[in-house]
Amino acid sequence: MEAKQFQLAEELRKSIRGIVKTDEPMAKHTTFGIGGPADLYIEPADTDDLAQIIVWLNERQIPWFVLGDGANVLVADKGIRGAVIHMGKPFRKVKIDGEKVIVGSAAKLDKVVSATVDAGLAGLESTAGIPGTIGGAIVMNAGTYRGQIGDVTEKVCVVTTDGVQLEMTPENLQFRYRWSVFQEDKNKIIVEAYLGLKPGNKEELVRTMEYIRHRRNMNLPTVGRSAGCMFKNPDGYSAGQLIDEAGLKGTSIGDAVVADKHANFILNIGKASATEVKELAERVRGTIKGKFDIDLEYEVRIIGDW
Ligand SMILES: Cc1cc2nc3c(=O)[nH]c(=O)nc-3n(C[C@H](O)[C@H](O)[C@H](O)COP(=O)(O)OP(=O)(O)OC[C@H]3O[C@@H](n4cnc5c(N)ncnc54)[C@H](O)[C@@H]3O)c2cc1C
Repeated sequence: MEAKQFQLAEELRKSIRGIVKTDEPMAKHTTFGIGGPADLYIEPADTDDLAQIIVWLNERQIPWFVLGDGANVLVADKGIRGAVIHMGKPFRKVKIDGEKVIVGSAAKLDKVVSATVDAGLAGLESTAGIPGTIGGAIVMNAGTYRGQIGDVTEKVCVVTTDGVQLEMTPENLQFRYRWSVFQEDKNKIIVEAYLGLKPGNKEELVRTMEYIRHRRNMNLPTVGRSAGCMFKNPDGYSAGQLIDEAGLKGTSIGDAVVADKHANFILNIGKASATEVKELAERVRGTIKGKFDIDLEYEVRIIGDW
């Protein structure tokens, strides 16, 4: 298998301009700091390069997964069979044109928030402090009870599995709570997004953005590594409150711990394995089902070779 992997990497390097690595540890690329190696790890040089990579992988029936900043994924200890396409520096452009913001999918959401607030534009400040990229945020419809990225997304440019570039509008993006169509249709890679904002009072926007960042620092765990909320809030309930009421704060398996400060966070406080995090998450789900007859749905994407 290994020889084949190196041969494939060599072949791919000759056909594209981006970076190709083999056996890249995913722990280096996830906020959990967890995850085994990806067979192939590819960073496209630009959109055309990305299209070529997708076609190349599909022709060889090599499964692929797109990674942003890895702030919402739990990757298996055995890693990922196939290819990880990491959207990096070439996709970080941010252009503000009046009330429109054109952003590359690898731009950091929080940096885009700062740039739009600095330009006196309102609409994105409710997502201040959320880690990750614009691409990941659109897939997850990232946000808080104050608002989410889908509220201001007007258009998303993608590359399809055939290497074709397409534009998608809110009707086909189907944003809802922590959900967009990309969670179902995994055959598209986001390269760019158009956000529509409104003129606002810059001083007020700065105050709101800083307040939100401050509240996050106060209320979210500051020790350990995580992928944010492990579970989505079930209809009418707060997952964190249910987990707290079930007395699960502080429960641990190895170095994986249910956070004291926010019960919906599972923390890696040292050398937790993906298996330990998953086992702990399943224990939480089982307890919540037993106590409240509620099924917790994962918000964190569980990926790789389990
Ligand atoms: C400390 C902490 C706090 C957090 N707080 C919040 C919060 O308040 N609200 C919230 O909503 N989330 C929160 N999160 C979760 C996380 O920040 C968001 O889900 C974020 O949007 C993930 O972005 P990412 O670039 O890291 O995506 P990744 O984790 O890399 O990927 C997430 C999903 O998006 C897909 N994806 C990524 N980029 C692309 C692309 N270009 N094209 C197609 N698919 C793509 C991946 O395949 C994967 O399925 C938190 C996480 C942490 C660590």
